[in-house]
Amino acid sequence: MQAAWEVFIMSGHYDVIIVGAGLAGLQCARLLAGRGLRVLLVDRRPAPHRYVHTTGIFVRKTLEDFDLPPDCLGPAVRDVILYSPGGRALHLSSPRDEFRVGRLRRLYALWLEEACRAGAAWSGATRFLRSEPSGAGSVVSLQTGGRRWQVRARFIVGADGCRSTVARDLGLDTNREWIVGAEEVYTGVPLAGPPAFHCFLDPRIAPGYLAWVVHDGEETHIGVGGYPSRFQPAEALQVLKKRMAGRFDLARARLVERRGGRIPVGGVLKRIACPRGLLVGDAAGAVSPLTAGGLDPCLRLSDLAADVIAAYLSSGDGSVLEHYHGGLFKARFFSRQWMRRAMATFRHPLWYELACGAFRRTPLRWVAWHIFFGRGSFPSVEPWKEAVRLRTGG
Ligand SMILES: Cc1cc2nc3c(=O)[nH]c(=O)nc-3n(C[C@H](O)[C@H](O)[C@H](O)COP(=O)(O)OP(=O)(O)OC[C@H]3O[C@@H](n4cnc5c(N)ncnc54)[C@H](O)[C@@H]3O)c2cc1C
Repeated sequence: MQAAWEVFIMSGHYDVIIVGAGLAGLQCARLLAGRGLRVLLVDRRPAPHRYVHTTGIFVRKTLEDFDLPPDCLGPAVRDVILYSPGGRALHLSSPRDEFRVGRLRRLYALWLEEACRAGAAWSGATRFLRSEPSGAGSVVSLQTGGRRWQVRARFIVGADGCRSTVARDLGLDTNREWIVGAEEVYTGVPLAGPPAFHCFLDPRIAPGYLAWVVHDGEETHIGVGGYPSRFQPAEALQVLKKRMAGRFDLARARLVERRGGRIPVGGVLKRIACPRGLLVGDAAGAVSPLTAGGLDPCLRLSDLAADVIAAYLSSGDGSVLEHYHGGLFKARFFSRQWMRRAMATFRHPLWYELACGAFRRTPLRWVAWHIFFGRGSFPSVEPWKEAVRLRTGG
């Protein structure tokens, strides 16, 4: 008779096992498989594109620096309207295309296909349980349905999100501060005016973050975010929908999806690599503490991670891992972390009313402009990639 927890060894050894097929894991899988490494990508979900949890707004810097497929992006958004708790609006308009809402189901499916075509093995509905050091790598225990199985891998990538099991397993740093976001996605909402990103700064419905409506002419995303101990996202979402009833006509709108999840906002973690593995994306805390944007950091950090892993595995030189440390990026987040502290501390709507009032007047208007339209996302990883190349003579 078979034991309920049957253990068997899947064929072969892998160079890299990537845990998590969100944007960060998929990007790593494509890059590493494209370099000829034997990659196994696993996710506890059956298919990555079936469970998108993010709004998917890509900022200009990402759109300029990465070659995202045009059919995986919605129409460009150039306008931001920032509302105070009292409903006073500040309209910011950019001469450039500032945002596009990704069609992430399509993108995830495409990137999974690309990774597999480049040679990566994919195992959906597969949970990472733990790993043990073994020789020059690890034996990794996984679970698919009722079956447990093990693989050997020279290196483990934790792309498993905000509450990373891999981070704990490898003894790396873990996220300690997060907000939660929840949103509904509609089609069939008439668009009056240009596509726009409406932001509601109001601690009653979004304590420590903001509520949003992004309407790009095709999809409308209505969401709220904030510290989980201070609000009920589902209730806040209803309040937001009532509040925006005069501005948007939802009479013929069709609810097509509900999304949500945790967003780490404590800044990039320090210790994100060790000789057995490293972290990328939310697992590494690579999210802007102020805007809670994590898609750009996913792409950049995974890009660096792929170089570091390839160099480490080909040279065996552990010092390469020094180029993958959260401390390298911390300085860039100093002002954003300071603003996050302010958002976490000031809880009364009056503070937000005053801040919005200041933003409506020059010269502070440029601060709001800079927050929404500045090219200040995740720092460039090019200097660290160059350092890895120099170190290994690549
Ligand atoms: C509501 C909301 C809206 C957002 N909007 C934006 C936005 O508009 N723009 C922006 O830049 N950022 C946004 N963010 C943040 C951004 O979505 C994230 O930073 C980004 O998606 C993180 O990607 P990731 O690949 O690191 O993690 P995830 O997308 O969380 O992927 C982690 C994967 O790991 C898998 N996993 C977890 N544990 C295990 C395990 N033990 N075994 C196997 N698999 C496991 C999960 O199933 C999941 O598929 C938003 C976040 C939320 C929650």
